[in-house]
Formats: sequence, structure tokens, C-alpha cells
Amino acid sequence: MNKFKQIQEQIALLEPNFKTEIISLNEAFNRILQEDVLADTHMPPFDKSAMDGYACRFIDIENELEFLEVVHAGMVPVKKIEKNQCSKIMTGAAVPEGADCVFKVEESKIIDGNRVKCTNPKTNKNICYLGEDYKINDVLIEKGTIINVSQMAVLAGAGYHRTTVSVLPKIALINTGSELVEPHKKPQHGKIRNSNASQVISQLKKMNIEVTPLGIIGDDYEKLTQAFTKAFEENDCVIFTGGASVGDFDWVPKILADQGFQIYWDRTGIKPGNPMTFSQKGDKYCIGLSGNPVSSMVQFELIAKPVLYKLMGAKYTPLRIKASLNFEFNRKKADRLAIIPVVINSEGLVESVPFNGSAHINALVFANAVMEVPNGQNKLNKGDTVYVRPL
Ligand code: AMP
Ligand code: MG
Repeated sequence: MNKFKQIQEQIALLEPNFKTEIISLNEAFNRILQEDVLADTHMPPFDKSAMDGYACRFIDIENELEFLEVVHAGMVPVKKIEKNQCSKIMTGAAVPEGADCVFKVEESKIIDGNRVKCTNPKTNKNICYLGEDYKINDVLIEKGTIINVSQMAVLAGAGYHRTTVSVLPKIALINTGSELVEPHKKPQHGKIRNSNASQVISQLKKMNIEVTPLGIIGDDYEKLTQAFTKAFEENDCVIFTGGASVGDFDWVPKILADQGFQIYWDRTGIKPGNPMTFSQKGDKYCIGLSGNPVSSMVQFELIAKPVLYKLMGAKYTPLRIKASLNFEFNRKKADRLAIIPVVINSEGLVESVPFNGSAHINALVFANAVMEVPNGQNKLNKGDTVYVRPL
């Protein structure tokens, strides 16, 4: 089995770890629901007019109708509709007793001030029926759903002004590497700016998770041990970048092992981004991403995000779309799943962007998706179908 599939199976087996809390509805956007949302009424709660028009009996639709009253939205109709009678009705208002049809104002003619004729006897009934959207006690949203825009509306509609969600994990970020300087500094020869902090912070922000950035720590066993020990004392999870590999100064895997962490995996089978660790000790977690910016971004998107969502008890399935390739793709080695930045154009076709590999984060600026090239696949032709993941 390929390594990435194995990791996905390991993620699926992780036990959700974070606690729940009750928050107000206006704080619920982009949080993880931790209760089933149930309907407390039928919806619509009454037969409701879908149009501004006249309510009558469909059997009378070809006749001149006697006008009774105007029914506004929010009002209870007073008059029952009998043979050859109608009431004017507004969109969203309760259909009066006796009526089984609403014809549109635009398809009506007033005769002698108080008589109405429908000009389209083939009209639809234009009624939203009691309970046709959902019934009382139906599950409207399942526990584990990530609360998006439509879920906010449904929560409000179902009266969930207070909502049970996962507590957000406390996460710290450490960027390892003696070559790193912060973005406000001009790098001297041999140094580069820390671009991974901004990237990881933004990735977490998209998930609504605040992170404490602990800055750059050089490749020094003692300093890294100190920083990690303190970070684990104060946080549920530490994410680090760089130093996760097998270079002479890649200390972090050794530090984690020395501190008794269980390592779930230390490589991903993905290109770019093979070296990556995920480890656990009790209720503390550590996610180690590659230093190379494209690698760390790919690893976050494909692995760290599903891990964090799983630990928060979220049902998360990344969006993958099948789309047609508009260029020819070749590679010499096909021993890993390749993740390639691409553009999905306005026709829905997959276009290439210039891309030199794991350090070339600038290529991502022009991409709106990444495409998957499976293990064993050396060549893809124009017109082939590929999986793309929108960014
Ligand atoms: P590493 O994973 O530590 O072996 O680093 C791999 C490559 O990524 C090296 O060229 C590093 O200089 C670079 N790199 C490491 N950390 C960062 C960072 N925070 N921002 C940008 N580049 C980095
Ligand atoms: Mg390094």
C-alpha cells in the first residue's frame, strides 16, 4: 500500500481528543458542531404561499371569484375560502382554510372592483406545504459538521441560539533553522526569511484556530529541547517546521523520541514533502512539517488539516474534483504521489503553472488548485482526467 493511503488510515483511527463547550450562535461560524441539530417544528410550520397572488380553490380557477380579505405575511387568515371566493395573499403568508391554490398577481384581472379572474388557469398551485422541507425532530445537521454559511442559517432557523462545539486546541508554532531570519530583516549571505510562520498561521486561521508563534529556534539540541518542553507545557499541540528530516542538524525527531513521544509516521510518500512527523504523548501532539515552503504547505493541506479536524471530532472530507488536463505531464520517477500546483481555468480545464519544486512557493501565487499524480504514473496526456484540490 502507498504511504499516503496508510497515513490516511492512521488518521481515520485517531481518537478525537478536544473537549466541547457551549457558545452563542454568533460565535459559531467555522467551529465544529458537537451535537445533532434537531427540528423543533415542521418546516414550513403551515401551508405557506410561495407568491404574491390570490388564494382560492383550484376547482374554481376558471371562474370569477369574490374577493374576501388581504392576508399579510405573519397574520392568521380570518376568512375561510368557499366556492368561487378568493383572498389576496402575500409571499410567506399562511394559506387560508379552504384554499388549495395561489395564482400570481401578474396572472390576475380585477373585475368591477371586488371580483378577480385568473388569466392562467394552468397555474401551478404555488403553495409550500406544511413540513415539506423537514419534519419535527428531523436531524438537520449532524454532530461533527464544520459550521459553514448555510449551517449558520439552519442553526438560527432551528432556534440554536446557543450551540455545542469543540473547544479549539491550543497550538504553538516553532520554526526551526539556523539560517532563518524574521521577515522584517534583510537576510545576510546564507540566510533566508522565515516564510513558513506566516503560511502556517494562515492555514490555521482558515480553520478558525489561533496559534501562538514562538519564533525561530536555531538547530541546537539544547535550545530546541528547552523550547519544545515549554511549548508542550502550555499547549495541546506543537507544530514545527524544518529539521524534521535526517540531516546532521535535524534534531527534532530525536528530541521527540527522547521525550517519549510515539511517532506515527516520519515520511509521507508525497512529492514535494516526504519528511514529516506526527507524534503523540498522552494528550500532547506534535506535527513536524518540512522546511521547504511548498512541502510544508502540501503537508499541511493533505495531512495536518485532516489530523487536526479528526482530533477536534470533525467530519472532514477534502474537496477533490475530477477535471480534464489541458497539458501533457511527464516525470522520470513515479515512486510517490505528486502534488503539482495548477490553475483550473474558466472552462474548468487544468492548466500548468511554472513550478520548480519544493522551495518554489512563488509558483503557488499563480495557482488556484493542486493536482494529484498517483504513484506509478509517469505520464499524463492532454485530455486525461485528474483529481484536483482547490486551494
Ligand atoms: P529543512 O526541512 O530544515 O531541511 O529545510 C529544508 C529547506 O527549507 C531549506 O532550504 C531551508 O532553508 C528551508 N526552510 C526551512 N525553514 C524555513 C522557513 N521557516 N521558511 C522558509 N524556508 C525554510
Ligand atoms: Mg533545517
